[in-house]
Amino acid sequence: MKKRFTSVLSALILASLSFNVVQAHAKSDNFSAEQLSQVKEIKEQALESDLAWDLVESLTTQVGPRMPGTPGDEAGVAWAVAKFKAMGFDKVWTEPATFPKWIRYSESASVVSPSSQELHITALGNSISTPKAGIEAQVIEFENLAELESAADNAAKGKIVFINYRMDRDRDGNGYGPAVKARSRGAVVAAQKGAVGYVMRSVSTATHRFAHTGGSHYEEGVTKIVSSAISNADADQLHRLVALGKPVTININVQAKSMGEGTSYNVIGEFTGSEFPKEHVLIGGHLDSWDLGTGALDDGAGIAITMAAAKFATLKGQPKRSIRVVLFAAEEFGLWGAKAYAKANEKTLSNIVAAAESDFGADKIWAFESNVHASSLPLVNEIAAMLKPLNVEYIANNAARNGPDLIPLRPFKVPAFALSQDGTDYFDYHHTADDTLDKVDPAKLRHNVASYAIFAYMAANAKTRIIGK
Ligand code: ZN
Ligand code: ZN
Repeated sequence: MKKRFTSVLSALILASLSFNVVQAHAKSDNFSAEQLSQVKEIKEQALESDLAWDLVESLTTQVGPRMPGTPGDEAGVAWAVAKFKAMGFDKVWTEPATFPKWIRYSESASVVSPSSQELHITALGNSISTPKAGIEAQVIEFENLAELESAADNAAKGKIVFINYRMDRDRDGNGYGPAVKARSRGAVVAAQKGAVGYVMRSVSTATHRFAHTGGSHYEEGVTKIVSSAISNADADQLHRLVALGKPVTININVQAKSMGEGTSYNVIGEFTGSEFPKEHVLIGGHLDSWDLGTGALDDGAGIAITMAAAKFATLKGQPKRSIRVVLFAAEEFGLWGAKAYAKANEKTLSNIVAAAESDFGADKIWAFESNVHASSLPLVNEIAAMLKPLNVEYIANNAARNGPDLIPLRPFKVPAFALSQDGTDYFDYHHTADDTLDKVDPAKLRHNVASYAIFAYMAANAKTRIIGK
């Protein structure tokens, strides 16, 4: 009886032992137990650190606005090189990127009749100047770009076109795409309809009175007219005036200049891998900003988050694969740094094992998405499991929404990831004078750094590399 009991007991012990072995095995095919405990330590330390805050504070205070081709941009490049070196990155280098340079001198607007009042306006990037006294004409309002496009050829002859489309507020920023079309092409379509000037409701969810700038373009063979945006409050006011049914005349005065080709630099810092130094994780943001604010949310935060995350990901020693932080140049003028990066590094893009850009402000990350080959999914699931305690939810393995600077890398099947921030408030500040450091919450920044550090550490140190699809 006793013997039988003992054998049952030992069978139970054996079963529980083998169960543990199976559990430990199922727990990770890609990482040792020591590595998994390092992930947790890295997370804890990142959640306690203000390294990213110190970086974004330094960048926005000591450098300030960083519009491509300006002295601020140049100072930003020097700042980044010095910071990478001071933080102990093994390799630090720059790569040139050229872009069409544009600068803003001044901008103002007012309603001339039926009443006299100021409008809060900004020139859109690339806009031509008006004559010194501004351009004065009657306003013709359209609901959105599509309505303007379908208008008769001379519908806006001699007038200033006003597109009054209001973007939707949304955690994912889904309202941006439909709204931004009027910023990018509005002045072209307005000119095709005979307009002498173009003003739009800002691409904005804000209730404040700042206007939002952003890139706009002209087309070969279409007359260039002034391209501008007014604040939400001013767009409401202009709409009410037009709705009164009497002619509304406004004056827009923009002084700006295209300056030919400018040059800036992608700034790159790398912690070199011990086993597979050529293979690398690529994280980063864009170093440039618009000129109106100090580019704290767009994209000082992304710069700070990814620089700090690389530091934490290597806290426990040299990674197996390299961890590279790329601070892209001239994103705001049209992804010029990213395009130059893809071209200059075309032969080695296949060495990227995971890429993610932080360029959506400084709020907490809530979602994780991948775009990888199915064979890499077990590893991605392990990363997702480590992000889950930070309330980051794994969404899916499809075309991951990731930063704009990764768009030129897409044709090269780079394994791309999105660590999606909550963007509910992002378009209150985006591209305005109100994009300043006080909008950054240090606690939320730590959460971002911890998430990126986990991601970078795991992608760099896994047994096998992640492959794209
Ligand atoms: Zn940005
Ligand atoms: Zn931007």
